Amino acid sequence: MSDSCCGTTAIEIESFTTAQHPAPGQAGALPVVVIGAGPVGLAAAAHLTERGIDFLLLEAGDRAAASVAQWGHVRVFSPWKYDIDAAARRLLQADGWSAPDPDWLPTGAELIDDYLAPLAELFGDKVRLGAKVTAISRLGYDRVRTAGREQAPFLIRLADGSEVQARAIVDASGTYTSPNVLGASGLPAHGEGEVVVDHALPDVLGADRDRYQGRHALVVGAGHSAATTLLALAELPDTPITWAIRGGSASRTYGGGDADALPARGALGTRLRAHVESGRIRLLTGFFTHRVTATAEGVEVVSRDPAGHEQSVKVDRIVSATGYRPDHSIASELRLDLDPVLGSTRQMAPLIDPNQHSCGTVPPHGADELAHPEPGYYAVGVKSYGRAPTFLMATGYEQVRSVVAALAGDWQAARDVRLELPETGVCSSNLVEAHEQRVGLATGISGGLLSAPLPLVTVGGATSAESGGCCG
Ligand SMILES: Cc1cc2nc3c(=O)[nH]c(=O)nc-3n(C[C@H](O)[C@H](O)[C@H](O)COP(=O)(O)OP(=O)(O)OC[C@H]3O[C@@H](n4cnc5c(N)ncnc54)[C@H](O)[C@@H]3O)c2cc1C
Repeated sequence: MSDSCCGTTAIEIESFTTAQHPAPGQAGALPVVVIGAGPVGLAAAAHLTERGIDFLLLEAGDRAAASVAQWGHVRVFSPWKYDIDAAARRLLQADGWSAPDPDWLPTGAELIDDYLAPLAELFGDKVRLGAKVTAISRLGYDRVRTAGREQAPFLIRLADGSEVQARAIVDASGTYTSPNVLGASGLPAHGEGEVVVDHALPDVLGADRDRYQGRHALVVGAGHSAATTLLALAELPDTPITWAIRGGSASRTYGGGDADALPARGALGTRLRAHVESGRIRLLTGFFTHRVTATAEGVEVVSRDPAGHEQSVKVDRIVSATGYRPDHSIASELRLDLDPVLGSTRQMAPLIDPNQHSCGTVPPHGADELAHPEPGYYAVGVKSYGRAPTFLMATGYEQVRSVVAALAGDWQAARDVRLELPETGVCSSNLVEAHEQRVGLATGISGGLLSAPLPLVTVGGATSAESGGCCG
């Protein structure tokens, strides 16, 4: 062999393949690996349990729902009845668990304490904590090699160097650990890695209070996360606040005020507008973060708009509330068919395009829409939406019900996708206001900021599709 243009490579791989690979079908004896113990990964585990399919759930954090724990102080907009997966509910109830009040809006911490942590406990040592996945491939196959590929087990490498094999992968690793950058063009601002930048939703009125009170904070972004942080900062005495957005006006963030179809969105926006109009919050529009530089007094943040005009602000703290993006690098040896805009599957993209859909209007979808050319690999949950900020837990629960049915070979159930998300009510409701009066600020997603079409970025800075939206 070997005098081909490719040298010996082909034969070497062939002999390795023959010697090392399980015979076709042997991969089927391996567990399904679920990556990430967030709400959707845990729901996948519940469906796998109900179907009697062996699985292993790998979670990078030292606790279940480690990403939700990061925003544990935030109250969501969708009440409990939309936050609990049906299979998870059945398993928990069989274990003596009582469901929380279906109409209550939980905080992230309540989601964990009252639902996700007890659910994770049910799965015992099938949930492996501190198990960060760094790469996924097929045993003996790089991305190029085709023959026999579908029968080869998946190979999952962990941060500690150990490896696990799987018959299929449900990647529910989320996007919370890969936030968007501060830089306005999607690239990091110059110097971004050299200064302290807090990512969205610091616990300004709780654990992080001392870091913010009395310091000049800059919040960058136009979604609900930015709005939430700004309103919390406004409660701190002697704390100057600057808010920077790319657009020419904050009207999209303010929403429709009293005339808003979604009262909570209106209330959030109305309060924010009042703070801006009173001067409590200084708003910088047309702000395209270009450079951040540490100075003796704090940080200087320079905007350079597409026409080259600069403005700058000197602050003590920066909160980047610019949204999230999926990290597909762990699956770079797999054959993925990603939408070039959103980073979802191509099939999903038109369904979730934030220019077209608010949270409640995303049509039901399942295994077919989530499939990649790599059979057996599914990215689910918020990761499946790529950069679209309109994801809801209820959507993810239906995704994993369908995907697990497909893995079980039950294609009828896999294709019978149903999702009943009232246009309002799941994303937001006037419940939020009642809850706010009782327990403080509510936030999260409202289906709201994106229920109106987003304008595309206009060079010159007049308008901009600021990242954020529902959850950004
Ligand atoms: C502030 C906020 C409010 C929200 N409010 C609502 C709401 O009201 N209603 C609603 O329906 N949705 C809401 N969402 C959106 C969405 O439902 C949540 O983000 C939800 O947590 C997504 O679940 P997930 O399981 O897909 O991902 P995540 O909850 O992000 O879980 C991913 C898990 O994967 C782990 N992980 C990451 N990388 C790896 C790796 N390489 N290896 C192993 N493990 C890894 C993480 O530690 C994490 O535990 C909100 C989101 C935010 C941020």
